[in-house]
Amino acid sequence: MIIREIESKSILSKTGIPIADYVINPYTGCIHSCIFCYARFMKRFTGHQEDWGKFIDVKVNAPDLIPENTLKYEGKYIFLSSVTDPYLPLEREYRLTRRIIEKLIPLKPVLGILTKSDLILRDLDIIKQFENSEIGFSFSTLDENTRKEVEPAASPIEKRINALKEVHESGIQTYVFISPILPYLTDWKDIIEKTGEYADFFSFENLNIAGTVWSSVKRFLEEKHPDLVQEYKEIYSDNVYWEIVEGKRSFPEPPKFSILEVEEEIKEFCRAESLDCRLYFHH
Ligand code: SF4
Repeated sequence: MIIREIESKSILSKTGIPIADYVINPYTGCIHSCIFCYARFMKRFTGHQEDWGKFIDVKVNAPDLIPENTLKYEGKYIFLSSVTDPYLPLEREYRLTRRIIEKLIPLKPVLGILTKSDLILRDLDIIKQFENSEIGFSFSTLDENTRKEVEPAASPIEKRINALKEVHESGIQTYVFISPILPYLTDWKDIIEKTGEYADFFSFENLNIAGTVWSSVKRFLEEKHPDLVQEYKEIYSDNVYWEIVEGKRSFPEPPKFSILEVEEEIKEFCRAESLDCRLYFHH
């Protein structure tokens, strides 16, 4: 792991992501090393040659870049974080996220935090000081063995659920982000069942294999689920697969998993169960 301390020029960035007005990323890179992480495109922007998950730039001056005495951010949604996890293990030592959100309190934004770590519990005392905040925990699986394979350095599932419960019981708005939905591996109904008591709403996102994500997911499938490699190829390919059998074109069975069908099933389930569900599907 290569850890580098850097000085950043700015820290509050306008964003086009659906829920937020601004994002803050106290770190570049992410030790959680999820095999499906779309943020690995950051390597290109920052010139890192190391594998995703093997480098971290620590923006040591980040808290000093939060402006003071301004109404510009009042009521605006500020989100931590879009291309890293704000509660990486080294946040224990650097306390950048903590010092950043402390400085955000007087700016009166809506604070949004999304994490896979129970370290967030350390900062409940300051998160409670925001009039508006929502804290999300991401889950792609509840199976601890699969979790170790796909999100190797994130908090174990049980710790994450316990943290979600504690945040919820402290009176802060919470949500569960079921992301990504990995075909044949993510049991989204089970996640809802085990976390629903502690979540005010649910968000869903399907797997986005853009850029270099596919090669990372494929490597994982080849090692751990070789039977799924072809299924994933067919789900995520625009090509119609066919082969010549006895001199004729033969079309294999289409994959059982359909992104469109899953999307509809989630909508129907949420309607039937009267759950507040927000879907962010890539097509
Ligand atoms: S926690 Fe988020 S940012 Fe970090 S590797 Fe996983 S998906 Fe990427």
